[in-house]
Amino acid sequence: MTKVEEARDALSKIIDVGSKKNLMELGWIKNVRVLVPRSIITLALPSYANSQRDRIVKEIRNTLLNFSDINDVQIEIDNASQPDGGSEDSGPNLQAINGIKKIIAVSSGKGGVGKSTVAVNIACTLAKLGLKTGLLDADIYGPNTPSMLGVSDESPKVYGSGNEQRLIPIFKHGISIVSMGFLIEEGQPVIWRGPMLNTIIRQFLYQVEWDNLDFLIVDLPPGTGDAQISLAQSVPIDGAIIVTTPQQVSLQDSRRGLAMFKQLGVPLLGVVENMSGFIPPDQPEKKYEIFGKGGGQILADEHKLPLLAQIPIEISVVSESNKGIPIAIGDPQSLSAIVFKELAQFITK
Ligand code: ADP
Repeated sequence: MTKVEEARDALSKIIDVGSKKNLMELGWIKNVRVLVPRSIITLALPSYANSQRDRIVKEIRNTLLNFSDINDVQIEIDNASQPDGGSEDSGPNLQAINGIKKIIAVSSGKGGVGKSTVAVNIACTLAKLGLKTGLLDADIYGPNTPSMLGVSDESPKVYGSGNEQRLIPIFKHGISIVSMGFLIEEGQPVIWRGPMLNTIIRQFLYQVEWDNLDFLIVDLPPGTGDAQISLAQSVPIDGAIIVTTPQQVSLQDSRRGLAMFKQLGVPLLGVVENMSGFIPPDQPEKKYEIFGKGGGQILADEHKLPLLAQIPIEISVVSESNKGIPIAIGDPQSLSAIVFKELAQFITK
């Protein structure tokens, strides 16, 4: 007759894709009971692992049904022991993170304007200036900072379980990185409900071993969604930067983004205009306004904010990024890297 030890042993083959640890070790599978022909187990997944839930449930079932005398598997979902107590809406009680001096959010009205490029390069430049810097990639819908930083094959180490579980950021190019990209299963559509996103963001803030940072740069998803609200209602944000392009058609989205931060009481540092014209490397005296001009300045003026930087379209931004090296590190003489340095210096003031 199947014994609990045999069941536990079999279940320990089920692995978390993020940490590569088994679920017994992580404490995600608890209370294995065998009452032949039935087996009952409790599953307590932290929210950032919810994307794996269907796969895990299936594997648990198959594993236990493999025993010839088990034909009924019951899986109890234990939300109460999730690290944040399963609370989906914790309200706007701001809770600073021990050891993080300043949190800067980078956002944009729409995708594809270079928000992540800006966030990554600000973070690397701050590190080059000698400041301890972390990057939290909260762009749950398109977490691409791991590939921009050349760490997409890495997975962060996790230790402890339940309330005590901690994630160790990946360290590269002088910065500590945590990204949803490390945790989601490849090819899986990431459809996060708002409340779940809230929980994940809180775990990324409070259950990561951020090591006495001067700055945490948060790369938010584009738009005015739940991630912005979650972040603003969790931690005190020292400032938000809105990235836009010179195109005036994208202004409407950027305006909405700015208005939301104002409504949430987040201080706005200013506007960064990215893709501000193309300067051919062989004709540096020329500038082609491929995406129009003036968008950043109009947005900044409307909200009485400074236009903090205008970053040109540069081939090396893409080529270095494709190699997993942000331009601030890969080509420090480039115009973009120089502008990023000025931007980082502004942030430190
Ligand atoms: P977002 O985070 O807003 O979706 P990304 O930072 O991922 O945008 O940038 C989208 C694409 O544009 C990437 O391929 C990136 O390398 C490229 N890109 C961003 N900024 C620049 C720039 N200044 N010059 C050239 N390419 C850029």
